[in-house]
Amino acid sequence: MQTINEPPRETSVIHETDVIVIGSGPGGLAAALGAARAGVRVALVERFGCFGGNITTVGVEGFAWYRHEQTVEAGGIGMEFEERAKAAGAAVPESQSLSYELDSEGFKLVADALVEEAGIHPMMHRQFVAPVMEGDTIKGVIVESKAGREAILGTVVIDATGDADVAERAGAPCVKTPVEEMQAASVMFHLAGADKQKFMEGVKADPQTYADWSSGEWQVETDGKEDEMFSPYLGKPFEKAIKNGIIPPHLNTIAGTWGAVHDTGEMTYMNLVHLAECDGTDPDSLTKFEIEGRKQAMLAIEALREYTPGCEGARLRNFGMTIGIRDTRKIDAVYNMTETDVREQGRFDDTIGIYPEFIDGYGILIIPTTGRYMQIPYRALIPKGVTNLLVAGRAIGGDKVAHAATRNMACCAVAGQGAGVAAALAVKQKVNAADVDIGLLQAELSQQGVRIR
Ligand SMILES: Cc1cc2nc3c(=O)[nH]c(=O)nc-3n(C[C@H](O)[C@H](O)[C@H](O)COP(=O)(O)OP(=O)(O)OC[C@H]3O[C@@H](n4cnc5c(N)ncnc54)[C@H](O)[C@@H]3O)c2cc1C
Repeated sequence: MQTINEPPRETSVIHETDVIVIGSGPGGLAAALGAARAGVRVALVERFGCFGGNITTVGVEGFAWYRHEQTVEAGGIGMEFEERAKAAGAAVPESQSLSYELDSEGFKLVADALVEEAGIHPMMHRQFVAPVMEGDTIKGVIVESKAGREAILGTVVIDATGDADVAERAGAPCVKTPVEEMQAASVMFHLAGADKQKFMEGVKADPQTYADWSSGEWQVETDGKEDEMFSPYLGKPFEKAIKNGIIPPHLNTIAGTWGAVHDTGEMTYMNLVHLAECDGTDPDSLTKFEIEGRKQAMLAIEALREYTPGCEGARLRNFGMTIGIRDTRKIDAVYNMTETDVREQGRFDDTIGIYPEFIDGYGILIIPTTGRYMQIPYRALIPKGVTNLLVAGRAIGGDKVAHAATRNMACCAVAGQGAGVAAALAVKQKVNAADVDIGLLQAELSQQGVRIR
């Protein structure tokens, strides 16, 4: 490949702080809040114009759709997201669980309020592009924006980009799922103009279950206990549309779940388009699948209008402002979580919080209807080879099946809060992030309302 040399340049340091969090999804937002509440200065850097990550930018509203009577959870900031959204009128009861579905637009305001109340320094519209390194130690980040290139310095950096952007550029070893094995990407959309009553009557007349996920293109492994449970699954309209020539036969990947149906006729969190082999770290791949995904979404809407009671008058309200990516780089952490950890209630001395036995991805669906849960070890947040960098959210260390559990938003919030509090303790105790006292970390997390065991 042809290359050019860029001239060396001086970059202005626009901000200095204790903890810099890059990315504001459930992982980064929880990290920033955890650190600020533990008493240090925090800057929250985000490339888009809102906080919330996939919740607000993609439209992923099902924060805890796994929750049932027996489910045991960490609580903490993840639970607070739901409670605050409910209190703000930005959540509605979720159709298949005891949880609430977040309103992706309303949650922007909830996130703003949480950030402001915690005294976090908000830095939107800035994309991380390079780490500031002194040997193996990260000292800050370079961001780019409409203002050009700027530097932000801090004692601990938390990479909550979802894609391990910071870790990778800082030279920490990362692993990326081969593109042909990556979980599919999705262009998400919301509809307007649905008839809620008619739609719900149709759902009641022909209820779908998790066993129905095993149809068409997919086979899904369950524990068996999931098979008879209700799922907001939509498959039949698309089978009919293929039969009748509305959708081409090769697009038998169009199917999935509806989110919330509102009294005002909106259907939100329509998770129906699945795009295989989209590499979320490759802008050409992202470009191709944004365009392809929008086309497929319009075919899905045509099929819904034709074959789903209550959707006859439905129309596109909006797409997520960016394609939804499930699976890219993860760090090779000091400890990488395993399939056994998530299937067999992993227990760790350095636990920073628990997460129920919920596995969703790579053809596995296990719902925590029992009280079983795993612990998340602090070491899974620590990349190898870079001092004072922590990772929160879906890029923490683990194998594929572990990722199918830890990628879920409430688990990202557990890892995020753990990373944030650990970063704050490192600053206060003047030790490296990897060396914080685990007892103190667990005590502060418990103080912040996290169940760690
Ligand atoms: C279509 C879809 C449906 C899903 N459904 C569910 C579900 O129902 N329930 C569930 O629990 N999970 C679901 N997930 C998974 C879940 O949304 C993610 O795994 C989770 O949001 C990851 O959280 P995160 O904080 O690691 O990253 P993200 O939510 O991806 O947030 C990362 C943030 O970092 C920012 N960022 C990235 N790079 C940079 C950079 N270089 N500089 C500055 N900012 C940057 C991004 O703009 C973003 O705001 C779904 C995912 C998708 C894509």
